Amino acid sequence: MSDRRRSLWEVPVRRLIPLLLAAVLLAPAAPAAAAGTAGARPSGPTATGYGGAVASVDATATAAGLRVLRDGGNAVDAALAVAATLGVTEPFSSGIGGGGFFVYYDARTGRVSTLDGRETAPRSMGENAFVDPATGQPYAFQEARVSGLSAGVPGSLATWDAAARRWGTRPLSAALRPAAQVARDGFTVDATFAQQVSDNAAAFAQFEPTARLFLPGGAPPAVGSTLRNPDLAATYDLIARRGTGAFYGGEIGRDLVSAVQRPPVASSPSRPWQYQIRPGGMTLDDLRAYDVRRPAPTHVTYRGYDVYGMATPSSGGSTVGEALNILEQSGVQSGEYGLDKTQALHRYLEASALAFADRNRYVGDYTPRPLLDALLTDGFAAERACRIDPARALAKPVAPGVPDGRYKQRCDTATGGAAPDKGQSTTNLTVADRWGNVVEYTLTIEQIGGNGIVVPGRGFLLNNELTDFNFTPTQGTAADPNLPGPGKRPRSSMAPTIVLQHGRPFLALGSPGGSTIITTVLQILVNRLDLGMTLPQAVAAPRASQRNTASVTAEPAFIDSPEGQALGLLGHAYTPMAEIGAATAIEFLPHGRLLACAEPVRRGSGSAGTVH
Ligand code: GLU
Repeated sequence: MSDRRRSLWEVPVRRLIPLLLAAVLLAPAAPAAAAGTAGARPSGPTATGYGGAVASVDATATAAGLRVLRDGGNAVDAALAVAATLGVTEPFSSGIGGGGFFVYYDARTGRVSTLDGRETAPRSMGENAFVDPATGQPYAFQEARVSGLSAGVPGSLATWDAAARRWGTRPLSAALRPAAQVARDGFTVDATFAQQVSDNAAAFAQFEPTARLFLPGGAPPAVGSTLRNPDLAATYDLIARRGTGAFYGGEIGRDLVSAVQRPPVASSPSRPWQYQIRPGGMTLDDLRAYDVRRPAPTHVTYRGYDVYGMATPSSGGSTVGEALNILEQSGVQSGEYGLDKTQALHRYLEASALAFADRNRYVGDYTPRPLLDALLTDGFAAERACRIDPARALAKPVAPGVPDGRYKQRCDTATGGAAPDKGQSTTNLTVADRWGNVVEYTLTIEQIGGNGIVVPGRGFLLNNELTDFNFTPTQGTAADPNLPGPGKRPRSSMAPTIVLQHGRPFLALGSPGGSTIITTVLQILVNRLDLGMTLPQAVAAPRASQRNTASVTAEPAFIDSPEGQALGLLGHAYTPMAEIGAATAIEFLPHGRLLACAEPVRRGSGSAGTVH
């Protein structure tokens, strides 16, 4: 956006409307776009304006959402168009072979609701599913991942259908048809897409339909080439015509189940693979039995804001919420800490480690709601906060606390915890409409490229979400809440978050990044709410992630910053990671103005746009 137009935002809104309308009407038509990108183009990673907004990782998907908003659709209609398009253009991070968590603020009722579309273990899955019966040892991660075993019953399509029926103004088919067109016409392969194929080339080469789609001629598609996916177009069209039953029990489901039970291995793969490719036990009945759950959101208050997140099976809402409570108790905000950014970040890292210890001990699919809520009480947070030493980083891992309601200053020094799960897949989208409804949606197929298996003839990858279960117990003599089980949902870290102020939306945000999702969301909140950054600054700032491990995973720019160095002197050790997360967010400014924000650099940069 030009400086001239930005200065217009200073003008009172009523005087602005005619100007805006003129600008929209007189604007030159968007250039005839490359295949699959026709229509309005979002501006870049940051956009400010009125009438609704979309932020996602991908320009084609953001444009699809903006088109729906312009055509009178609401935030849910637009979010579904974005999600369905991401299933085409971001097939390694999302799609109908995966699952996710959908958080919705309804402007009419002022309520936040959630949909849990998490993948689910087949009913045949036992606690030792990821232990090799031949050796008694857990499978190597890649062996577990690239298999039929790792695929959970997908929840994304059922989530989209539930959202459309419950809150949308148009049926799911309205979101699927334009996305099918993108799949049919094709889209331009960018550097991120090509790199993701290249990183997965060995796994993709093992499966005939995956190699055919994503390794044309045996190599990743060239940057700038057009990738078409007619099978996915036909799959979307079939679902648009016949409903989600075609998937949850119908012919698409039959093909899916057969790919899980008999992975479509290539007869002579072009690249070697060192692991056995194991089948999974998912059946058509497992697909038929899938249900979208509607848990109440998690809720904490933080410095006058109401922060809503995702309950189990995600640990996102409870871990972000507990860490915020600990931060509030430990006085992170700059006012109390005299603008000492190092101390604020020290507390951010320590609060996160403490919350992760509790997450690892207590949070899984079957965590009773009273226990989850107990983790989010101020009394528990006060007890946990008393462990933070302003002068020195705690030795990690820290032990979990005891959320038993009997809180005193119990600063014992036992240890516990678990290694963090890692991951860099997933995608996030944020949408707001002109009526004030908001969608925050994180969706995934787990690893980038999921389990590597494209369902033959259907054009979509399957997830490997079941590797989010712990393969073996991690909590010593205590029960592990995240072991596999029949019909169970693996613990997630996805943290779609909506923040209200005085009952109205203030901020909505989320990110991919495995368990670093939690710290990415938390750090953006701290940056924005406590450290006085603008939202684009809060998103762009270098990231660090402490998940109750000996060292802090951090981007090089964080490690090298003055605060990063000062934190080192407090005893924080670092493991560098090139990039953490890929957030999207919308901030609700005064007078209906919206600030939509995606990553300026990470994941090849994202795409934000507003309607006017
Ligand atoms: N499967 C992960 C989760 O549910 C997300 C994967 C990722 O973002 O890398 O937490």
